[in-house]
This record gives sequence, C-alpha cells and structure tokens, in this order.
Amino acid sequence: METYYLGIDVGTSGLKTILMARDGAVAASDTQEYPIASPRPGWSEQNPQDWWKAAVAGIAAVLTQSGISGDRIGGIGLSGQMHGSVFLPADGIEPLRPAILWNDQRTADQCAYIEKKAGGRKKLIAMVANPALTGFTAPKIIWLRDHEPKTYRKVAHVLLPKDFIRLCLTGVYATEVSDASGTLLLDVSKRKWHEKLMRKLDLNAGWFPPCHESVEVTGRLSAVAAKATGLAEGIPVVGGAGDQAAGAVGNGIVDRGIVSATLGTSGVVFAYASKPAYDPLGRVHTMCHAVPGAWCVFGCMLAAGGSLQWFRNQLGQQEVRQAAEAGVDPYTLLIDQARQAPAGCEGLFFLPYLTGERTPHADPYARGCFIGLTARTDRAAVIRSVLEGVTFGMKDQVTIMREMGIPVKQVRASGGGARSEFWRQLQADMYDAPVVTLNVTEGAALGVAILAAVGTGAYKSVPAACKAIVKSVDTSKPRRDLVRLYNDHHAMFGRLYGCLRPAFPDMAKLAWTGLKRSPS
Ligand code: ADP
Repeated sequence: METYYLGIDVGTSGLKTILMARDGAVAASDTQEYPIASPRPGWSEQNPQDWWKAAVAGIAAVLTQSGISGDRIGGIGLSGQMHGSVFLPADGIEPLRPAILWNDQRTADQCAYIEKKAGGRKKLIAMVANPALTGFTAPKIIWLRDHEPKTYRKVAHVLLPKDFIRLCLTGVYATEVSDASGTLLLDVSKRKWHEKLMRKLDLNAGWFPPCHESVEVTGRLSAVAAKATGLAEGIPVVGGAGDQAAGAVGNGIVDRGIVSATLGTSGVVFAYASKPAYDPLGRVHTMCHAVPGAWCVFGCMLAAGGSLQWFRNQLGQQEVRQAAEAGVDPYTLLIDQARQAPAGCEGLFFLPYLTGERTPHADPYARGCFIGLTARTDRAAVIRSVLEGVTFGMKDQVTIMREMGIPVKQVRASGGGARSEFWRQLQADMYDAPVVTLNVTEGAALGVAILAAVGTGAYKSVPAACKAIVKSVDTSKPRRDLVRLYNDHHAMFGRLYGCLRPAFPDMAKLAWTGLKRSPS
C-alpha cells in the first residue's frame, strides 16, 4: 500500500493542507480560511486556536477528498507564516494573547532598542545575519515586555505559528532553523540560538524551544491529536520550514546556482547558498535553508506585479474593456502591446517604487516615475517600460546575489507574472540566465510534504527528492544582444534612482502640504 505525506502551511489568510504521494503527485488539497484582526492601525493579530481548528478541518478534508485512511500517512511536515509570536503559559495550548504577525508594524522603538543593545546595526547583522525589522519576532517579545508587563510575566514559551501547530499535534515544543532565522535570535551561521544576544536583550533563553534541522523528526502524533484529526497515533512530524524556505523546497531551489523569481504583487528573488553569506548592508535576508548545511538569501521588491496591476487599473481601462468583450485576460492584451515597442523603449524608464521600496533600496519615500518621455513615446512603450522597470528591480536582487558570490545559473519563474512567456523571456535577457517554469504549483505545503518524505526515509536527501518530484517544463534562454542592451539600461536605471533619491523625502513633504490644503 502506498504511503502518503501531509504538508500543512499556516498562511496569513488561510491554512493549506495537501496530501502527497511519494512521487510528488498531490492526492488532495484543501484551504481553510480564518480572520486577521487589526485592533489598531498598523497592528496585525490572529488567534492561534483558529489555526489549530483549520488544521483539524484541513486534515479531515484531504482524507475525505482522497479516500485515503489516516494510517497510511508516513509523515507530516509543517510550514507557516514566519516571524509571528505565540505567547504561551507553562502548560497547555491556550495562548496568553493573540499572536502578533509578520506584517504588524508596532515595534519601531523595540527595533531601535535591539540595534542599540547589539552595539549597532552592523554588529547586529554580523550576529544574526539580518537587520532589526518591525516584522521579526524579537522586537515583538520586547514590545510585550514594554506594553503588557502582566502578560509578559506569565510567558513560559514563545513559539512561531507552525510550531504552535506542532505543539497541538505532538505535545512537543520544537522549532527548526529556517523559521528560527526570522526571529532575529538565531546565530544563522552556526544554526543555533544566539544566547549571547538573548542575554544582551534580557530575554529568557528557556522560552525558546530546541532548534532542529528541517528534516529531523521532532515528535510524533499524540493520542489526543490522533483522535481530533482522524490520523493514526505515532506519525512522525518533521521540523518543516518557514514559508519562504518551504516554498523554495517546493520549487526545487535546493542546489547551487538554482534561484527562484516570484512575480506576484511583490517580487521575491530567492537563492540557495552553500555558505552563510550575508549582505553587510542588510538589503537581502540570509537565513538557514531547509536543506541541512545550506543557507538561503532572498530579497523582496514591493511593487512588482503590483506595478502592472496599477497600470491595468488606472490606465488600462481600454484593455480591460476589450478583454471583457473578447473573454481574455487584460494582462495578455497589455503584454501584446508591450511586444510592439523596441527593447529599452527608446530610453523611457519606469521606476517601480509605487509603495516605496525594500530591496535593494530600503526607502519608504521612493516613488514611481516615468523618465525619458519624448513626443515619439507611444502607449506600447509606456506599457513595456513598466515591465522593464519591474524586471530591472528584480535584476537588482539578482545582482546583489552575484556580488555576494552566489551563482545564478537557472531561474525558476513563479507567481502571476510567470504566466506570460514574454515576461519570462524578458527576465532571461535581463538576468542573463535561463528562466524555466515548473510542473508543480503547490509551493510551501508541497515543500514540507517533501521534507516529511525525506525525514522519514523515503528519499536520501532534500535535493534527491526535489530532483525526482520537481521538473522544469519550459525554458526561455537569454539572447546575447539583449543581455548587453539591458545591462546598459540597468546601469542607467540605477543612476536615475540615485539622482532622485535626495528629492523623494521633499516630495513627500510637498504631498502632505498639498493634502492639508482645501481642494481647488
Ligand atoms: P499575489 O502576490 O497577490 O498572490 P499573483 O502571484 O497572483 O499575486 O500575481 C499577480 C500579478 O501577476 C498581477 O499583479 C500581474 O502583475 C501578474 N499577472 C497576472 N496574470 C498575468 C498574465 N497573464 N501575464 C502577465 N502578468 C500577469
């Protein structure tokens, strides 16, 4: 009888469960949604019990959908939104307050405190490979100390979202290196908790669970959880991974030279790294990978696909109308027009900073711009410049990685933007690397099902499993003349931001003054 593996991904909008056969075929998949609360502007919280309820319902749903009985599951892998903090008392699974999530912005003061205590930003990056960002876990714990001291005094355990589900499933407090990297308390190069930094911050090292490798078995399904879920008692639960590393395993980014480029609303470039290389400027994140003994580096531009979406919504009414009449996707019509313009758009540039920027310029004031308009500029060039500007931003991330000594030999395209063959070719020409699409789309949940298969002995290593399961289906190869052309244009793209950077904060002031005046 075939054995199956469960992958559970505790996302922000919902929990995804998949059931995977050894060969990677997905036998069933289910998503359970739950609410997100924002009790104050910039705050973002969830009730961990909602995740657990969703996990119980999700497991039941995939077992029913597939008709596979709970005793045929060989292992469980857990993934989830990173950085979230679940505060727990000494016993039980009832959190002391709602979990504070990755996208919560309340901790600016605590980030400044952490940097100061660490001896400055540079020293902090040298210790934990990342700068203090408001979303990370450590500033959330210090926020609790500063603002809710009564609750803080009751804390006995701090868990990440997926590790709370592990506690519910197994009764075991445990985490693994990839998710722990996002706490700002892990010595990322040594793959263990940074107890010295914890001491500097006056945090109790005993609150943090043992930290495993992602494929290690951390516990087994308890009798109580078996009864709640319909699974068999004793099923091994492996470490799993934070959603970035898990998604990378699901896309096979588990070997030197393989990188993913995800063009969703934001744009993420994610690379496998065989050494714990970090960017001293903190422009990209370095974390432990879910592959034992490997690391990963990734950056995030804020408005990638989001820039094209902005164009469609604000300036693409004509295409939206035509698309509705013809029953096609408006993005396809926009891209068909972009094809008509020459590469480089005769010197028209789009700076894609519609919501400020994160990688490579941590600049909240940066703005979107069209620069280089002439009387000859037509609609096709404007659309193409948006696609080129976004892809230059992605190329910035690829360039940082190469500068850090990380090879970029093959890029795996995902996200909505990967649907367009034109955009994949544009990426290949800009990154100077072949861009491929894959046979799999289940992302992080598939990634941790793969980790469960590896951890319970179905494959000898994560790369071996990914080689068997994740295959490329289509390749766009870089074209020499265009690689050269885009290299020159990319240099100008960087220069233009440099010229405008000093003006952006003043533009923000002007915008505020304008807003305060009455209309007309
Ligand atoms: P999210 O990050 O919201 O999950 P998706 O991965 O679904 O986003 O990507 C959405 C983005 O993908 C859109 O904003 C758009 O820029 C781009 N996109 C969607 N469909 C297409 C298409 N057919 N061709 C090119 N780009 C597309």
